[in-house]
Amino acid sequence: MKKISSVKIRITIWYAALMLVMIAVVLTSVGVFSYQLSIDNVEKDIILQVTKVSEKFGKRDKGGPESIDSGEEFKNVSVHAENGDYIAGRYVYDIAGIEFKEGKARRETVDGKEYIVYDVLKRGAPDKHNGVWIRGAESVNSTVLLGRSAVVVTLVIIPVILCLTVLGGYLITKKAFEPVNVIIKTADKIAENNDIKQRIKIASGARTDELYALSVTLNNMLDKIEGLIIKEKRFTSDASHELRTPISVILAEGEYLLDIAKGEKEKELAKNIVDKAKQVSRLVSKLLLLARIDRNGQKISREKVDLSVLLDIAASEGAKKADEKDILVLTNVEENTIIEADEALLLSAVSNLIDNGIKYGKRSGFVSVSAEKIGGKTEITVRDNGIGISEENIGKIWDRFFRVDDVRNDEYESAGLGLSVVKSIVELHGGTVNVKSEPGEGTVFTIVL
Ligand code: ADP
Repeated sequence: MKKISSVKIRITIWYAALMLVMIAVVLTSVGVFSYQLSIDNVEKDIILQVTKVSEKFGKRDKGGPESIDSGEEFKNVSVHAENGDYIAGRYVYDIAGIEFKEGKARRETVDGKEYIVYDVLKRGAPDKHNGVWIRGAESVNSTVLLGRSAVVVTLVIIPVILCLTVLGGYLITKKAFEPVNVIIKTADKIAENNDIKQRIKIASGARTDELYALSVTLNNMLDKIEGLIIKEKRFTSDASHELRTPISVILAEGEYLLDIAKGEKEKELAKNIVDKAKQVSRLVSKLLLLARIDRNGQKISREKVDLSVLLDIAASEGAKKADEKDILVLTNVEENTIIEADEALLLSAVSNLIDNGIKYGKRSGFVSVSAEKIGGKTEITVRDNGIGISEENIGKIWDRFFRVDDVRNDEYESAGLGLSVVKSIVELHGGTVNVKSEPGEGTVFTIVL
């Protein structure tokens, strides 16, 4: 059986069952108690009636058996001769066959019906008068009738009350758990959009219960986390800024050294300095770009961009490296394919993808870049026939500083920031970027704007 996953339904079922058990126990105890009480009352009443009639027989001159006919208080009493023959009073045929017996009031069952019977023998006096049996009797079943209202209560009123309680209880629990739904929705939004700015909405005038306290605590925690993230980003941005000037100096002086170097060894050392300084400079530029995107949020300056021009510029930027690996960079886009975008940022995104295509491409391979309008959208595709990405890593390539282990070496000049930049830029434009790859065969990146 499937387990019930809603806490609300579990609580409602639990207390409805508990209430049912409690009602059953209370009703049974009350029923048993009141049944016993009414039987005791019937018994007392019969004994009283019989005693009164018996007293009358003690004073014969003040009335004989006839007088008991009229009295309402003797409605359950009959008088019989010593041999059992009926003389006066209320004659109950059903119990006529029951033998007269002196002693306590007793219960007798005739044809499934139960009676309380109480017999008293008034002995006769020789030559004066005959003895008589005085019998008091009443059907106990009539006392059960007293419980009819209890049956109505049990079968009608209690189920109605139970239904109302279950419904009311469910609605109250549902309302009480409303803040949990708000918390879940907020957490989902944070996870889906990477938006740490989201907070749990707390209704004004909300009850200050445990869930209210939980929402406040989580909001405080989100404030702290957001504060930490902002601090970390500020640190990265500040550190990158601080690095810019020294790197420019190293690069400039390295290039000067390369110019004036005479020997082969000196030239090689100077070239190394220049290459590494360029690498660090590129890394710092990417970090600064990411910091700028993070800081500016949704603000970009859109302008009309001709994609045929933009893709050509991006392709030519990679030409030198492509030549080194004998990689052909092809562009395929119709003239005047215009979109509204931040030109510098979009150029940076496409350049990063082409750069990767060349970096992770096979010697004498190709990188093809194309753009087309499909419906209301524009697709920019960068395809290569390079080393490809394994299924295990493909979900991680968008993370900052992630690099596949195989490329963690100088050959690729890999830092793991390029695709984070691409993703941030595309998302800033309200678009998406996807990747499909076959290890050993190649990779296709598609930007949809
Ligand atoms: P970088 O290239 O500077 O290491 P990226 O963020 O651009 O950083 O890429 C992350 C990782 O994704 C790279 O280290 C590489 O392993 C993999 N990758 C990216 N583009 C390609 C590609 N076209 N072909 C194969 N692997 C790629």
